[in-house]
Amino acid sequence: CYFDYQATNDLLKGRIVLVTGAGDGIGRAAALGYASKGATVILLGRTISKLESVYDEIEALGAPEPAIYPLNFEGASWPDYQQMADRLYDEFGRLDGVLHNAGILGKITPLQGYSPTLWQEVMQVNFNGPTMMLQALIPLLQESEDASVILTSSSVGRKGRAFWGAYACSKFAVEGLAQVMAEELENISNVRVNTLNPGATRTQMRAKAYPGENPASLRTPEEILPTYYYLMGPDSKGVTGQQFDAQPPKA
Ligand code: NDP
Repeated sequence: CYFDYQATNDLLKGRIVLVTGAGDGIGRAAALGYASKGATVILLGRTISKLESVYDEIEALGAPEPAIYPLNFEGASWPDYQQMADRLYDEFGRLDGVLHNAGILGKITPLQGYSPTLWQEVMQVNFNGPTMMLQALIPLLQESEDASVILTSSSVGRKGRAFWGAYACSKFAVEGLAQVMAEELENISNVRVNTLNPGATRTQMRAKAYPGENPASLRTPEEILPTYYYLMGPDSKGVTGQQFDAQPPKA
């Protein structure tokens, strides 16, 4: 579902929020936006130079000092996620939010010719790695009085589409994970878990998926942030296991 939301300037004051894929595209915009609303943002991603520029932009805003956590979902394994949880626990003691946004497109191609190696890579980056990360982070989220987990989905993760292969299946898996996690945590913790479909947004991934499209016809990452604010902040307390859209349905 979609609805309009107006975030206050101190919406996320005092909150500690992890953003994956924070160096580019929607993740970069969300990290900057969350910091501008008062959150201490942990910038996770695989390209350190990009994370460093987002770090500098946040500093320039005068927002709370962020942290950088380099991690590549393709190669990371269970001990890396345990170490991540330990290090975040030592540094912050809790997590008030996770926006899992990192992802790769793989290839738009018929199923019968889809490379099994690429299929595994897409599933690892978009689903298996993030699942291990969240498993490791659950105890930290449970330390929060009001924690929100947002998992990035896609319209092809809610209804399959020809040629979208591993990407579509990885997003269906993300939707499943969100439902399992939401139900497990609902009555025993203050952790809510929802999925968010950004909708067509002006980023490198979108340009790769639709090379013929005019990027100027699309909303920018900054323009789709209201739902990202709503789900991360206190106004969505008690909302869990739901599917959200960051853009209104096309007329
Ligand atoms: P971008 O390609 O612009 O950004 C993706 C981010 O994920 C980058 O920061 C990238 O890092 C990071 N990332 C990719 N692979 C890994 C990895 N192995 N380990 C760690 N980080 C990684 O994509 P968008 O901003 O467009 O997409 C963000 C999310 O929104 C994705 O989950 C996507 O599926 C979803 N989405 C996007 C739509 C759109 O129209 N843009 C529509 C529907 C869903 P690096 O910068 O180093 O490459």
